[in-house]
Amino acid sequence: MTLPKTPSMKLSGKRALVTGASSGIGQGCAVALAEAGAHVVCSARGLERLDATVAEMTALGWSAEALALDVSDLEAIQGVLTEQAPFDIVVNAAGYAKHGPAFDTAPEDFDAVMNINLRGAYFLSAWAAKSMQDAGIEGSIIHISSQMGHVGGIDRAVYCASKFGLEGMVKAMAIEWGKSRIRINTICPTFIRTPLTEPTFADPARVAWIEEKIKLGRTGTVEDIMGAVLYLASPASSLVTGSSMLIDGGWTAD
Ligand code: NAD
Repeated sequence: MTLPKTPSMKLSGKRALVTGASSGIGQGCAVALAEAGAHVVCSARGLERLDATVAEMTALGWSAEALALDVSDLEAIQGVLTEQAPFDIVVNAAGYAKHGPAFDTAPEDFDAVMNINLRGAYFLSAWAAKSMQDAGIEGSIIHISSQMGHVGGIDRAVYCASKFGLEGMVKAMAIEWGKSRIRINTICPTFIRTPLTEPTFADPARVAWIEEKIKLGRTGTVEDIMGAVLYLASPASSLVTGSSMLIDGGWTAD
């Protein structure tokens, strides 16, 4: 009898790009990939916090470098990919939120959210996947979406529109790139304390809403996301594409 072999989650020899890597979930993803052996190109808009992140990572013996990239700037995305692609793994954790009632949404705020959460994600995916395909790489693209890509949320019409859009985009791209074995998936967290959610956690009414909805009785941590990114980046998930991994403590269970 031959026992099945557990797929490896080691990423030695792989090159990864992580956007939004200077804080929160993106930083956690960069750490998870680097610790598993990948060389991680850590990107964010500004270099100060990013340099500090990369310095700590390399001090631990991991392979990482810092790169300035604003995902709302399509020319900048193209420039980075021209210089740095192909990647085996792309994790897009850059994100923006401007919450409020739909009646009050300013068109500029709508555009700002969409430009980062959807337009940037779209072209980063398309261009990264093209370079993977040209190089014959069976790569993995992972977007940090949200449980708000699956359900509505209070004051979140724009944010939900961006994340539901992201979910649909990922499914269509998975169909297009499956034959090249390029996989694309989302991770959908519930509320996690990061700079992005500071205003929400400062509002007792919103905290009560969150506590009522999360069945496991606690909010998330960056660490709750790290195993998922490792799984989706590695051959352990080689039959997974066009899917959405909910890490929501049961928020969407009812
Ligand atoms: P965060 O504020 O710590 O991280 C967001 C990152 O995106 C930052 O590094 C920021 O610099 C970067 N960013 C913003 N605009 C950018 C741009 N134009 N170009 C490049 N980078 C840009 O917040 P986070 O909570 O870690 O958010 C990461 C992702 O996770 C976002 O897409 C967010 O929508 C999603 N998310 C967060 C939560 C949560 O509760 N924290 C829940 C669900 C989904």
